[in-house]
Amino acid sequence: MTAGDGRPVRAAFALKVGRVALVATGALAAGATAVLYPAPKPSSGDVANAGPGAPGAPTALTADRSAPDALPASSSEPSWEGSLESPAVRIALQVGHWRAAEAPPELAGIRSNGALWQGIHEWEFNMAIAREAAVLLRAEGYVVELLPATVQPGYRADLFIAIHADASADLSVEGFRVAAPRRDATRQAATFARVLSEHYGEATGVRQFPTVTRRMRNYYAFNHRRYRHALHPMTPAVIIETGFLTNAGDREIIVKQPELAARGIANAVMAYPPTPPPNQREQRVAPE
Ligand SMILES: [Zn+2]
Repeated sequence: MTAGDGRPVRAAFALKVGRVALVATGALAAGATAVLYPAPKPSSGDVANAGPGAPGAPTALTADRSAPDALPASSSEPSWEGSLESPAVRIALQVGHWRAAEAPPELAGIRSNGALWQGIHEWEFNMAIAREAAVLLRAEGYVVELLPATVQPGYRADLFIAIHADASADLSVEGFRVAAPRRDATRQAATFARVLSEHYGEATGVRQFPTVTRRMRNYYAFNHRRYRHALHPMTPAVIIETGFLTNAGDREIIVKQPELAARGIANAVMAYPPTPPPNQREQRVAPE
């Protein structure tokens, strides 16, 4: 699910279908009504993971070392700002809703809403995919950082991919979708969104959902005009909803075989001309 701007969510209601209980807010798939939970106050869409955290604390933005896949030792610096001159190709994978409870006041709406499937928060599914994608990309020589729900102000990377999963009250609704920011100063994001759609679909067999939502295109991390905790305008960024947690077919991939979803994401990064695999590039240019 995707958090868009800070507007209030729609009326909330709860739904249980069989063993599926889900919590969602905000824009849902066409024709799909959502499942919801006590809607947090002025809120933006997507989920949130629970977790300790001091709302607004600036330190909340650095990686959690106790997390399943904390940052590599080399990226202990709080920000990549100004460091893009190096030859490293830096890929940021944002784990949707991860540590959302730590969001600063301007993003209070993302703190406490979230999709659940069988008691598992969406961020955990997102994490499984992101972590596996990081392994694949690091093996190719990329510098990969896993980011929580809140990004540091002016955050820079060669590519930013927000990883989420959709949910719908209609259990037949299936498919993944990828969106570029509505405003994109880099003019690269739409192209990468196409590359990602192509490779993700190929690696997973998940169908592409025909539309994206306004909340995806206005995702808070893209919206540097409105939020301080947003990407640097020149960080090319996309958001992928990897599939519907509420659909059995999609769950076969995003829950049971996250490595396939990760493969699709990694393949797209490697195939995208501005972010070629560093190891292969070194081999090509090495004089001997
Ligand atoms: Zn989400």
